[in-house]
Amino acid sequence: GYRSRASYKLLEIQQKDHLIRPGMRVLDVGAAPGGWTQVAAPLIGKKGRLVAVDRLAMDPVADAIVICGDVYEDAVLAACRDALPGGADLIMSDMAPNMSGIASVDQARAIDLAELALDMAQRWLVPGGSLLIKVFMGSGAEDLRRALRRDFKKIVVRKPEASRARSTEQYWLALDFQRVAQERLD
Ligand code: SAM
Repeated sequence: GYRSRASYKLLEIQQKDHLIRPGMRVLDVGAAPGGWTQVAAPLIGKKGRLVAVDRLAMDPVADAIVICGDVYEDAVLAACRDALPGGADLIMSDMAPNMSGIASVDQARAIDLAELALDMAQRWLVPGGSLLIKVFMGSGAEDLRRALRRDFKKIVVRKPEASRARSTEQYWLALDFQRVAQERLD
């Protein structure tokens, strides 16, 4: 069985958008407990590469490399990069902050995590690559969308049935990465 309800969200997005394909190099950010990793691993197969990172420990998933650490730490980013030597075809982030209960604080933290996922995409995605990110609608979301538009040809918004209607979360799938923002690369 799947380790989390989140699996069903990714399955729905996969059914519609076919974003995960055999042989891909994929980075799964905010992966614990591993629901998305479980969905992605068999779709990618042994010829691809799946790297899952989270600050929480998670049980292994067959055919995935698991990195335990906080993506705000440079050493953790370096470990992700080293695990994807040729870059990534897809970066997917389901990261969410620990909720404080103060809406403005939680929203700022959530957008910051989404921006960090975009940073990783700008550094590691190969041309034509994709980024799937969880976005909490509210302050900062419009700026994030503008930033995505600079680097990707197309952005589609998904709200899977498995995502609670009450939750402000959406999933944005940014397609066809183009390296235009050269100055932002390492
Ligand atoms: N996609 C997962 C699944 O299918 O099982 C569920 C992910 S859960 C909604 C969000 C995750 O983001 C949490 O496990 C949390 O630890 C992780 N996270 C939040 N901030 C992080 C950070 N700075 N570095 C690494 N992981 C982070």
